[in-house]
Amino acid sequence: MGTHYRRVLLKLSGEALMGNMGYGIDPEIVKRIGSEVAEVVATGVQMAIVVGGGNIFRGVKAAAGGMDRATADYIGMIATVMNSLTLQDSLERIGLQTRVQTAIAMQEVAEPYIRRRAIRHLEKGRVVIFGAGSGNPFFTTDTTAALRAAEIDAEVIFKATKVDGVYDADPHIYPEAKRYQSLNYGHVLTNDLRVMDSTAIALCKENNIPILIFDISVKGNIYRAVMGESIGTLVGG
Ligand code: UDP
Repeated sequence: MGTHYRRVLLKLSGEALMGNMGYGIDPEIVKRIGSEVAEVVATGVQMAIVVGGGNIFRGVKAAAGGMDRATADYIGMIATVMNSLTLQDSLERIGLQTRVQTAIAMQEVAEPYIRRRAIRHLEKGRVVIFGAGSGNPFFTTDTTAALRAAEIDAEVIFKATKVDGVYDADPHIYPEAKRYQSLNYGHVLTNDLRVMDSTAIALCKENNIPILIFDISVKGNIYRAVMGESIGTLVGG
């Protein structure tokens, strides 16, 4: 069976790396995600990853506590670099070739973000991890995922979360709530469904990039997603 996609952008939130801990990175989770990424790359699929930082620092939250928002956001972006390097280490330990590119220059630890170079790495089968978000405060890593996906011409964004898709009601409160198999961008925007922030959705809509939302805590889901199995919720046109 062939894969469904050629080039994928995986968005990993900080929470996804945190597992069941309250803060930071769960090494076991990172190891498992790493082995799933390896499985997918072995099929010839090109994979770029945008990593969040909410498991370490969230700008909005710190700003609510009185911190200058832009400063808080820069700290948030630096937190994503810590996650990126952790993920890189885990991927390289199992033999994958990787590059971290950051949107804020830190050339002692990672390459700067250079679009054409990122594409070249992907063509050579390297996993490219994008750190430091978009490099701009007041944005999120979800929006970064949409931006990078458009820039590198990814066919789809895999938004890995802790829920298995989008529901018509909160399944924790309403057990009969139904999971949408697919949704259109307009529906997500008008109903303010918390799939990704609205800037990210709008960018995906404009550039026709579908988003697959699925549960990363289920083993094998990244592979299933790449094979085009109907898991999670697909947001598209
Ligand atoms: N951030 C930012 N600009 C960006 C991406 C991220 O300022 O382009 C900051 C922002 O403060 C955010 C933090 O980095 O709270 C961590 O990113 P995010 O909250 O998106 O991570 P996730 O929710 O995916 O873990």
